[in-house]
Amino acid sequence: MIDALQQLKSNLEAKPTRGRSYEIISYIVDECLQRDDVYEKLTFEAATLLHCCGTAAEREMDPQKWMPSISVLQRALNLTQTSEARRLRFGYSPGGGRGNVSLYWLELAPEEAENQSGREVQPDEVTYRRSAPGSIKPSITARFFFKKGEIKNRSVVGTAFLTSIMLASLTWIAMLSLVILSLVLRDESINMGSLLHLLIAVIGFLFIWRQSLAPWFKVIDDCVVKAPLGVTAIFEDSCEIEMFRHERSRWTRLVRFSADCPLCGSNIELRQGKPDHTLPLVGRCIESPHAHVYSFDRMTLRGKYIGP
Ligand SMILES: [Zn+2]
Repeated sequence: MIDALQQLKSNLEAKPTRGRSYEIISYIVDECLQRDDVYEKLTFEAATLLHCCGTAAEREMDPQKWMPSISVLQRALNLTQTSEARRLRFGYSPGGGRGNVSLYWLELAPEEAENQSGREVQPDEVTYRRSAPGSIKPSITARFFFKKGEIKNRSVVGTAFLTSIMLASLTWIAMLSLVILSLVLRDESINMGSLLHLLIAVIGFLFIWRQSLAPWFKVIDDCVVKAPLGVTAIFEDSCEIEMFRHERSRWTRLVRFSADCPLCGSNIELRQGKPDHTLPLVGRCIESPHAHVYSFDRMTLRGKYIGP
């Protein structure tokens, strides 16, 4: 057991992989190697694993929803182990009922299971999780509007916010028009220099428009889009904005959808589908963003493998 754990630890160090499942595995391995009695069985609760391996924003989630499924954990573990060494597997006892929590542990796999590990079924479905309300920190300017990470569109704050987006968009269009007009109305003939100025102005305009203003119009039809520039705090990971109906009014919320990759056990986050897919948003694995790609259904929170 100790040999297998040490081998696993050195494999993890040799091939550093990002992702929730890998962080859980390396935490459990470290804890198992540090225990005094090597024959004692160490079990871990989902809440402990979330507290020790989750990010600050994730700690507000329900531990059971945060935990990757046992098949994803096992898949990540299999990919980390070499075929020569004695293999470890995940032990799991599902909770249920009052005071009965789910437990996870590592144990040696029986010999016959080792031979079967090469013939795993390729899972092609993922289940997404939605981050807890208010767990994503808005930027300093957006913090004034996003109370607990969301805005009621028809409230005073919501109207002020949406009006400021409209005003910013109009100002932006007016500025571009002024630049073009000033070039056209000049007495001098148009030369390369002025054309270059125009080109730079148009590219700059389009960049800012696409990155920070257009998503606010797109979210009305699409319900979920990548969060525009300047909405979330600088250190915050990429996230989404979602517009939804609740109690007869519309709300806009900062949210992050994530899942565990069934192919490698790493994390899946939402990204643009372009250029290799036609869907606007797809789930891409952070370790293999162009090979492990999944669709995203906001209502069922499920996705199917849509391939490279
Ligand atoms: Zn993957």
